[in-house]
Amino acid sequence: MAFANGNDFAENLIDGLSAKELVDSGNGITYSDLIILPGYIDFVPQEVELKCRLTKRICLNAPLASSPMDTVTESDMAVALALSGGIGIIHHNCLPEYQASEVQKVKKYKHGFIRDPIVLSPNDTIADVLQIKERYGFCGIPITENGKLGGKLVGMVTSRDIDFLDKSRELTLDKIMTKLEDLVTAPSGIKLSDANAILQKNKKGKLPIVSASGNLDALIARTDLKKAKNYPLSAKDDNKQLLVGAAISTREEDKHRLGLLVQAGVDVIVLDSSQGNSVYQVDMIKFIKRTYPQLDVIAGNVVTKKQAKNLIDAGADGLRVGMGSGSICITQEVMAVGRAQVTAVYKVAEYAAKHGVPVIADGGISSIGHIIKALSLGASAVMMGSMLAGTTEAPGEYFYADGVRLKKYRGMGSIEAMTRADNKGSAMSRYFHNESDQLKVAQGVSGSIADKGSVMNYIPYLITGIKHGLQDIGARSLKQLKEMMEREELRFELRSHSAQQEGNVHGLFSYEKRLY
Ligand code: NAD
Ligand code: IMP
Repeated sequence: MAFANGNDFAENLIDGLSAKELVDSGNGITYSDLIILPGYIDFVPQEVELKCRLTKRICLNAPLASSPMDTVTESDMAVALALSGGIGIIHHNCLPEYQASEVQKVKKYKHGFIRDPIVLSPNDTIADVLQIKERYGFCGIPITENGKLGGKLVGMVTSRDIDFLDKSRELTLDKIMTKLEDLVTAPSGIKLSDANAILQKNKKGKLPIVSASGNLDALIARTDLKKAKNYPLSAKDDNKQLLVGAAISTREEDKHRLGLLVQAGVDVIVLDSSQGNSVYQVDMIKFIKRTYPQLDVIAGNVVTKKQAKNLIDAGADGLRVGMGSGSICITQEVMAVGRAQVTAVYKVAEYAAKHGVPVIADGGISSIGHIIKALSLGASAVMMGSMLAGTTEAPGEYFYADGVRLKKYRGMGSIEAMTRADNKGSAMSRYFHNESDQLKVAQGVSGSIADKGSVMNYIPYLITGIKHGLQDIGARSLKQLKEMMEREELRFELRSHSAQQEGNVHGLFSYEKRLY
């Protein structure tokens, strides 16, 4: 070990501050205020183990969770995170049925299987196919009797069926589709490798997967199979299904939502509140523990030991820490309540550790360095909003401003999110029942964020970066990192303003910052 063993004392090698001394040394501090002193390297970064606990019972292979926000996490994000070893928490600013179906998509996800293909009916027209081709870039579309997934499969339209038809765009698909008797299909439950073999043998681009009664269950596309990779880090449950979480609030009507989420197979519930130390949250934790004892609950948000105690006493299996630290947050400005994030994480984690309850550092993470700092101060995992917003897997369409490709990113307490009006429905607006509630006080802003490409490339970069950081510290695993912190072997230092400037790029006329 690099620090604070007997020899270090004897030779006066003790340097820097322990986590406790760091946090107790003055004002509330946050990630940029501190730096971690390097340790001793006797292993390569690839050896670093990033297994961690999200809750008392749930383990992840990477300490990464996505925020339950409507511009961050729906099923695409949750699948990508779980495949990469972390977990996505599906937001609840939508109708309960919509949220439950997003959870179900993750639980039913099988690599290579398209579980929600676009489907048309025999009465739809060539114009509909061309529209889909223009919007999504493909036109291999299964046709079912009712035009929906789950309906009886009656045919398939592919580019070959329409390529040489410059006739009426109004021609209905029953006239041009390849009929069921000429289609190659595969039964539900087939293994991906077997389905792959069928596709190759028959030289087909798409393979419909049908149930015993002939209903369409899923689709396999050859182009997806070509891209198929193994994901050895996937975070899965005992049935080998991907892990997924979902957020709810603490109103009476959330009990109905909770029931649907449990039916859909959700693994963990996050009680989503800016100030979690409330009678509403304590009652909801007790209700969940009573009604669904097998379900883990992450409560919060909290920033003090006293808040943490109430929620742990009520039965919380994990705590989400952060009030006012989010990139889209105006809580500290408007409510005058909150805490600097490093102080909050350390204080809550110190208390929660005594009760075996893991802590998630939520909000204010904007680099790999911040992740490493949060984990070094007692967090078991981090939760990210802005880091993941703007990726391909985040909900929402890209748009351009000043030539830059952007996606929307907004706080769940922003006026825009609270008054969401689209076909997914708004959970928040339903809460404003009486007249005095009609005047909303925003706790967040809405804005935009630059395109970051796919999470499937971004998360491996984060994971590799965390491993390099732990190597510099001299910790072979997150477990060892925590032990080093608790034994005061991990040493920190506060950074002056000029030290922070020195620690960033400085003195250049111009530069390009490519991260990976
Ligand atoms: P919330 O639903 O917990 O609280 C909204 C209001 O409803 C509060 O006044 C609360 O006390 C009240 N309430 C909750 N349950 C109730 C019940 N059963 N009966 C009566 N009143 C009840 O949501 P919030 O704290 O406003 O947060 C909204 C969203 O914004 C969440 O997604 C949250 O994560 C996010 N947010 C986060 C932070 C942060 O710093 N982490 C800050 C602000 C907002
Ligand atoms: P970020 O990673 O810094 O962008 O912060 C994301 C976190 O901000 C979320 O996980 C929430 O805890 C918090 N948050 C979400 N919406 C709001 C809001 O409207 N106001 C304040 N905080 C929010």
